[in-house]
Amino acid sequence: MRITRRGLLAGTASFAIARRALANDVDVLIVGAGAAGLAAAKTLREAGRSVTVLEARPRIGGRAYTDRSLGASFDAGAHYVHWSDRNPWRKIAAELGVRLSEEARGGGFRVYRDGAPLSDAERRRRRNAYGRIEKLVEATGSMDHSFADAVRGKPSEMADAAGGITLFALGEDPERVSLHDYDQLWSGDDYIPAGGYGALVERYGADVPVQLDTPVTLLRWGHGRVEAETSRGLVTARAAIVTVPVGVLQAGGLRFAPDLPHETQQVLDGLHMGALTKIALRVDRERFGAVEATDLMDMQPGGGVTSFEFWPDGQDLVLAHLGGDHARDLCRAGERAATDFALERLVSMVGGRIRETVAGGRLAGWWSDPYAMGSYSIVKPGHISAREGLRAPIGDRIWLAGEASAGGGAMTVGGATLEGERAARELADRLRA
Ligand SMILES: Cc1cc2nc3c(=O)[nH]c(=O)nc-3n(C[C@H](O)[C@H](O)[C@H](O)COP(=O)(O)OP(=O)(O)OC[C@H]3O[C@@H](n4cnc5c(N)ncnc54)[C@H](O)[C@@H]3O)c2cc1C
Repeated sequence: MRITRRGLLAGTASFAIARRALANDVDVLIVGAGAAGLAAAKTLREAGRSVTVLEARPRIGGRAYTDRSLGASFDAGAHYVHWSDRNPWRKIAAELGVRLSEEARGGGFRVYRDGAPLSDAERRRRRNAYGRIEKLVEATGSMDHSFADAVRGKPSEMADAAGGITLFALGEDPERVSLHDYDQLWSGDDYIPAGGYGALVERYGADVPVQLDTPVTLLRWGHGRVEAETSRGLVTARAAIVTVPVGVLQAGGLRFAPDLPHETQQVLDGLHMGALTKIALRVDRERFGAVEATDLMDMQPGGGVTSFEFWPDGQDLVLAHLGGDHARDLCRAGERAATDFALERLVSMVGGRIRETVAGGRLAGWWSDPYAMGSYSIVKPGHISAREGLRAPIGDRIWLAGEASAGGGAMTVGGATLEGERAARELADRLRA
């Protein structure tokens, strides 16, 4: 199934060098080597500034990651270049010679309730409900209340459709999503980079020197400089750009001394992380044979909803997508439980013959990943100014940047990139002054 941001239905060898001496006393310290951190580093370098990028993981790219561990590849995080008319990744892909193409699905779509296909009449009602939600968002999108509030008192298929949108496009249950924030997200054509979005980000960042395997635990910023405490020693700089996900900040995965100012904490309180989750099953396509529809929506008896995509990008995989509390539970339960769940749901729809064709599975469980703590930022109802609030520099020493502060570009690689560039430009100006 194709989920677009506003759609209603719902390397190359890196030059990143691990384990080398930490560069000290640079102009700018960048925490995190996802799209925002890499873009910030490039922008500062162009402005003639020295930078050190510290990354907790053994790889760059953050929530853009192409997983090849099953012998067939899939994007565990970002997959679509959204709102492509203004997305910087269109140009970056062209410069790197990476082809972007429209998604070619079309193998049929079926909706199942507890293993049984919905009747044509039910499907028509569902489709209409999605259309009505679209109109509702257009008419009332400036109201900063939740998606659930927006459909309260309306027919149950409208509530189902609201859930379909927020769970699959945002990874969150409808009562926790600001309708206004959803409405202000940019939309446009979506494209898929050949070889995966994660692989593209990896190539883009390959010329940025990054200190991998170096989580920052504490950032001191009170005395005219910044000082990062890491497992491998201290790094000092004139200022810092912090690009870790807001979930990491909220969980204390990176602490500050002194604490972040009250205004920044208030802004952070207006956001939380969604739990968009993917489960990949490696399936022997030849053995499995023909499938009646390549895109399945599975409505489970307890209220959970999962979508399944057969052969994404021509790979021998079935990819499950789910979000909200249901996804959080599976992330906590771990990879084995998640892949068992996906297989059992598939069996209920396509029959037991799929069992013999499965050769492994992966859980892309961002919710339980300590360096993500969720899929991407969600604005709580009533907190529409939170994204903008994140952009205010802290004590003229720390700039926060990433998908969460990206306004209409939030929740995307493109938005994170623009934000990394914005913070770097502001900081370069400040250092010049
Ligand atoms: C399942 C899923 C699907 C998605 N689909 C799309 C899509 O189709 N299109 C799209 O554009 N976007 C999509 N996104 C969103 C996109 O991946 C993110 O918005 C974007 O990658 C965020 O970039 P960032 O630089 O802000 O953060 P990140 O990529 O998270 O980078 C932050 C970096 O900080 C590091 N870090 C964390 N804590 C520390 C610490 N203490 N010390 C040092 N480093 C630390 C992390 O390891 C990470 O590398 C999706 C995300 C998910 C999870």
